Amino acid sequence: MTSPTAPFTSMRAWLRHLASTDRLAAIREGVSLQHELAAISKRLDGRQATLFRRPGGQAMPVVSGFMSRRSWIAEAMGVPESQLLARFRLAVEHPLRSQEVVREAAPCQQVVHDFKASPGDILKLLPIPTHSEHDHGPYITAGLVIARNPKTGIQNVSINRIQISGPDKLGVLLLPRHLHSFFQAAEAQGEALDIAIVIGVDPLTALASQAIVPIDFDELEIAGALHCRPLRVVRCTSNGVHVPADAEIVIEGRLLPGRREPEGPFGEFPKYYSAREEREVIAIDAITHRRDPIFHTIVPAEMEHLLLGAIPREATLLAHLQRSFPNVIDVHLSIGGVARYHLNVQMKKKREGEPKNVILGAFGGHYDIKQVIVVDEDVNVHDPAEIEWAVATRFQADRDLVVITGAQGSPLDPSTTVPFADNKPPAHLQGMSAKMGLDATKPLASSAHVFTRVHIPGEREIDLAAVIVATGGAAVSGTPLDGVEV
Ligand code: MN
Repeated sequence: MTSPTAPFTSMRAWLRHLASTDRLAAIREGVSLQHELAAISKRLDGRQATLFRRPGGQAMPVVSGFMSRRSWIAEAMGVPESQLLARFRLAVEHPLRSQEVVREAAPCQQVVHDFKASPGDILKLLPIPTHSEHDHGPYITAGLVIARNPKTGIQNVSINRIQISGPDKLGVLLLPRHLHSFFQAAEAQGEALDIAIVIGVDPLTALASQAIVPIDFDELEIAGALHCRPLRVVRCTSNGVHVPADAEIVIEGRLLPGRREPEGPFGEFPKYYSAREEREVIAIDAITHRRDPIFHTIVPAEMEHLLLGAIPREATLLAHLQRSFPNVIDVHLSIGGVARYHLNVQMKKKREGEPKNVILGAFGGHYDIKQVIVVDEDVNVHDPAEIEWAVATRFQADRDLVVITGAQGSPLDPSTTVPFADNKPPAHLQGMSAKMGLDATKPLASSAHVFTRVHIPGEREIDLAAVIVATGGAAVSGTPLDGVEV
């Protein structure tokens, strides 16, 4: 029995917890893996996680949407929602080394399909959905890709979209980060890069995989810190990569040197499609799993996808800003800004001009950030209506707006492709983007009441249960409304 404040360390325990609080919907047998499964999950997004029985007629169930609210993720961590970023930051600052276990103690290797010994077909083994209308086909969207730095041996974890290209072949998008640089180093030597794709981990391990940390910082050690105990890992059966021993499913394989094949289109987090292009190729060497595995899929661009990226980034951006600006209080990557592009910053301004320094600092924090709105400490950065109110009443475009042209932005933002023929920028011009900052803080000095926010004394303290005597039909009895025909 898990106490409500202990972090959840297993996906299964977390799903049981959601079920016991009416946040898990079991879906009828035989839902189609093509679009129907994703459509149902999307409709329930943020309300209930979904557990599909025998999807597409396959025995293995599929689960989705079990991290689709901030409050759920805080609950999985065992902290109040207000402590979410602080807890994540603490885990990043105090990582916990993983603990290696033997194969017999690793549920993720209870069943082994050795593709080298006899050819296998990934689509016969795993229920992999096709999500969006124009997706090329089935995609693994919740796969933690783990690889070792060929130079140092230290592992990296990332989530990459993975296309099923053939029975034992996958296509993958590598953004210019750590996995990409490991592969570049291996490829320069004419060698493949051993990898593992881990599917079905607890919410905190999934969250840890998205931490914005330097190269040679093993994200699994953040998962251990969030769990408050070392993560159990096991060596893969066909290579030297270590994977979470309690995962549901592991695909072992190699990124092939000198090979590029078409990947895409695929509907991504900005709610647009990435084009079909020549991208890296993975050969599958083995698939291992539990005796009764559960497959996890993330519906692209929906809350689970957006929050997984947003929370670790927010934690990193808050730490980054507070190093230079200790009076920054909170940050939020808004959902409308696809949880990547638009950052709201709350600060206690001490001097005029500071918000513009904060805006510039935020652009340096992550290249994806395209818009920064700085607000005062009385504005809730999580509430889009409050942010708009601050812009409406504390911002003047001619003096409070910062625009920077020609910086690097997100290559997945389609507006960055507009100046180029066929919307195809050459590689060295991809992701060129303008940045916009809005100082929506009120002036430090102003005449009385001009910037005083309307407030009704006692509003927050009212106990509604104590003041409401009747509702519905009973609300009118004994008043002039009694007996009025409707
Ligand atoms: Mn990394």
